[in-house]
Formats: sequence, structure tokens, C-alpha cells
Amino acid sequence: MPSEKIKIGILGATGVVGQNYIKLLKEHPWFKIADVAASHRSADKPYEEAVKEKWQMSIEIPKEVKDLIVRDVQDFNSLKSNIRFVFSAMDLPQKEDTKKIEFKYAKKGIPVISNSSANRWTADVPMIIPEINHSHTEIISIQQKNRGISKGFVVVKPNCSIQSYMTPIYALEVNGFKVEKLIITTLQAVSGAGYPGVPSLDMVDNIVPYIGGEEEKSEKEPLKVLGKVGEKGIINNDSIQISATCTRVPVTDGHTACVNVKFKNKIPTKEEIIKIWKEFKSVPQELDLPFAPKQPIIYLENVDRPQPRKDRDNDKGMAVTVGRLRKDNVFDYKFVALSHNTIRGAAGGAILNAELLKVKGFLK
Ligand code: NAP
Repeated sequence: MPSEKIKIGILGATGVVGQNYIKLLKEHPWFKIADVAASHRSADKPYEEAVKEKWQMSIEIPKEVKDLIVRDVQDFNSLKSNIRFVFSAMDLPQKEDTKKIEFKYAKKGIPVISNSSANRWTADVPMIIPEINHSHTEIISIQQKNRGISKGFVVVKPNCSIQSYMTPIYALEVNGFKVEKLIITTLQAVSGAGYPGVPSLDMVDNIVPYIGGEEEKSEKEPLKVLGKVGEKGIINNDSIQISATCTRVPVTDGHTACVNVKFKNKIPTKEEIIKIWKEFKSVPQELDLPFAPKQPIIYLENVDRPQPRKDRDNDKGMAVTVGRLRKDNVFDYKFVALSHNTIRGAAGGAILNAELLKVKGFLK
């Protein structure tokens, strides 16, 4: 690896996900934050002044970031020429605007690695979980050709709520146990709603059984992640049926999912499932990427795990923790899965995507 770090920018740097990037990239061996951007409300202020009491991280704002002057995401004139790529964590009122801005960066030669849902359903934009569909980077050249882009591109990561169960499901699929149906109930943390998020009076001593748009994302996004590279973009998987119920619970970080699974033909034994999960490794582990969890799926035998407070930080918040695997009277099996929504499900997951893209030569 080169001794000089790659200079990168963060769009939406003042939000919850943006702050997580700043915390996680503090000691990153390859990338260095050199640009922070947000809305016109934060623009032209030093980062520390723009973020003020919104800073939610457990560390002080790193000194190399706190004095950076926040740029308006739409101001391309002040974007430094040495920025090699940007992470996008913007939350604009209109998704179409986010979509346009992300492609504006790509057209200006700046790759965009995004957390936003705006481009997740754009067929020629890969939606990557590196342990599962690392090969979807192949459609970057199709995207560039389709849009007349020479150097930049847009890559996204999927919704935070699907991270906890997608890798366990993929591990079973890739070992020959094809899944037919999934019923999923999520219990999602408040940090998933950004800052200031859900009003405290709605959240304390309560569960909110609705998160706008989340069930549709949970039912559709896995099909793209498990899809194939086609001539014009990703061809979605059409062999799994998913039904999701998404709820918001009074937990700070960590999305939990209760999953019921029905297999197509071959049904594994409980021992086979646990062995597959414990032994599962993929490209990020083989490449020894800095943010790759050593063991992507951790299975806990204790009957009362996983729990958000105890298990969300496993392997620096990048591992998925699973437990309570048992026979289901209606489907074949059921289990509980947990992942850290702002790390694995947002900033950490996107950093892992960037590391994969770097090693594959896309961030030259
Ligand atoms: P957030 O805390 O509300 O932060 C939103 C960010 O977007 C802020 O930096 C804000 O800047 C900026 N922004 C808002 N309006 C803007 C505008 N008109 N122009 C430019 N920038 C604007 O949200 P978040 O939770 O960090 O989420 C960011 C994105 O990641 C969203 O698309 C979200 O769906 C996605 N995501 C979030 C999570 C999670 O767990 N939180 C997980 C996965 C994906 P100002 O401070 O200047 O307003």
C-alpha cells in the first residue's frame, strides 16, 4: 500500500452517519478525510461549529477534521482537486435530488460510495455487501458506458436493516441450501432515524410499529444483492419471497431481526447451519481488508443472545451476531440476528466497500 493516504470527502458529514465516518476513519491505514460537506445551513463554517451539540460520537472531533471548512454539497468550485472519492451520507428531502447530486460527482470524475437509498434501485448501480456480491463491481464499467462517465461512478450499500440476516442467509445459499421464503420482523434502533430522529416522547417506554419505506426496502433490496450481473445492470434474484415488518424500538444502536426461513428442497440440520455460519468467510477476509471482520457471522449458543448492548460492537461493529436457531412449526427454522446499524449498516459497511474497490483498482 502507498505510504501517502488517499484523500477523501464526506457528503452529509454533519449527520449521524457522517459523524460515524469521522470516528471510524480516524486511524484508517489507507484513507484520510480532507473534505467535509453538508447543507447550505452548515456551509462555510468550521466543522466543529457546524456540528455543535449534534456531535454524538464517544470521542472528541479529531483535530484534523474540526477546523475543516464545511462545503455545501452543491458547491463544486471549492472541492479540492486532490479528493479521490467521496462517501455520501446526505439526507435531502427529495431522493431525486440526492440521486442527481451523486451522479454530478461521478460525472466530475469523483467516485461516490453511498449510504443513501436514492440510487439503490438504479439498475446500473451496484448495491454491495462485500461478503456476498463483491462481483457486482463488474457493472461499474456498464454504468460508465451507459452514462458517458469516464472516471467516476456511484456504488451503494443496502439498507441497514437487512445487514443482520443477509450474510447468514447467503452463507446457507452458497452452501447449497436454497431459501424459498423469509418472514422478517425487525427491531430497529433510534440512531437509524438520524439526528434528531424520532421524538423522545414517541420512543421512551414505547415501540413504534412503522418506519416509512423500510418494509419495502427490506423486501426488495435482498433480491438485488443476491442478483446477477446482466448486460444492462443487475438482474434481481426472483426465487426468494420475503415478507417484512419493521419496528422502531428504544435502543440507541443495533438493529435486531427475528427471521423465519423456509428452504426450497434440501433442509439442513441445525448442526449444519451453525457449522456453515461459524466457518463462513469471503473475499474481504481473504483480502484481509482493514475493516473486514475476522469472522463475519458470530453464532452465540446462549439462549438470551444476541442483545444490542452486549453484541452490537462485536469485531468493532462489523460482525453480524446470530443466535436462537431453532425449529419452526410453520417454516423450517427461526433465528435472531443483530448488526450495528451505523457501523456495519452504514459508515463501516461503506468503508469496507471502498477498501474492496481500492484493492480491485477502481479508486486509482
Ligand atoms: P442525518 O443525521 O439526518 O444527517 C443528514 C445529513 O444530510 C446532514 O449532514 C445534513 O446536513 C445533510 N443534509 C440534509 N439536507 C441537506 C440538503 N438539502 N443538502 C445537502 N445536505 C443535506 O441522517 P443520517 O442518519 O446520517 O443518514 C444519512 C443517510 O444515510 C440517509 O440517506 C439515510 O437513509 C442513510 N442511512 C442511515 C443509517 C443510520 O443508521 N442512521 C443507516 C444506513 C443508511 P446539515 O447538518 O447541514 O443539515
